[in-house]
Amino acid sequence: QDFSSFQLDPRILAAISEVGYVKPTPIQQKAIPVVLAGQDVMGAAQTGTGKTAGYGLPLLQRILPHENSSASPARHPVRALILAPTRELADQVNENLKAYASKTRLRVGVVFGGVDIRPQSEMLRRGVEVLTATPGRLLDHIEQKATNLSQVEIVVLDEADRMLDMGFLPDISRILQLIPKGVQSLMFSATFSPEIKKLARQFLKTPILIEV
Ligand code: AMP
Repeated sequence: QDFSSFQLDPRILAAISEVGYVKPTPIQQKAIPVVLAGQDVMGAAQTGTGKTAGYGLPLLQRILPHENSSASPARHPVRALILAPTRELADQVNENLKAYASKTRLRVGVVFGGVDIRPQSEMLRRGVEVLTATPGRLLDHIEQKATNLSQVEIVVLDEADRMLDMGFLPDISRILQLIPKGVQSLMFSATFSPEIKKLARQFLKTPILIEV
């Protein structure tokens, strides 16, 4: 099986060959069709398995039909949100998504704490469709009205177990309350504590379980 067997836009397929991926990894083979079909996912996968492309490629495909080339920020609301526990992971996810979206007009960006907030606010005010964020810094930006989540269509919790370990549950709950009801939701975790299962029950609608 190769990437062309999935219903992905030619621009996404071209970007995949440019980054040098030839064959989908096991988690990609399982996750891509399920995410493309619009279903919620609970993914049991560590970093290193290719999980970022497993959710990232179909996520881009899901929002691609309404890409917008207008310069107006109002025309570039956040439509896909990826929450990650650390600056390092958020940065890495964003770099991957940027590469996968490089041949489209979708705008991709990242915000995380520990650095000057102003360049991030300017980026958000110009508008990005695909936003990767750490939870605390995202809430700061929302409080400052640099962005809002009213147009989100798909949300991903990446390394959910680490986010809970780091005490992000209250921030995550606040963020999820700001997202429209019924959006497609994906959650990835390396471990399945009772807390993770509880979050999954609250957050996912009849999820497909994907293990590798
Ligand atoms: P991840 O688990 O998403 O952090 O990915 C781990 C590494 O594998 C990253 O450097 C990816 O760029 C790379 N990768 C992801 N999918 C593939 C693939 N299908 N073929 C080759 N490399 C890949």
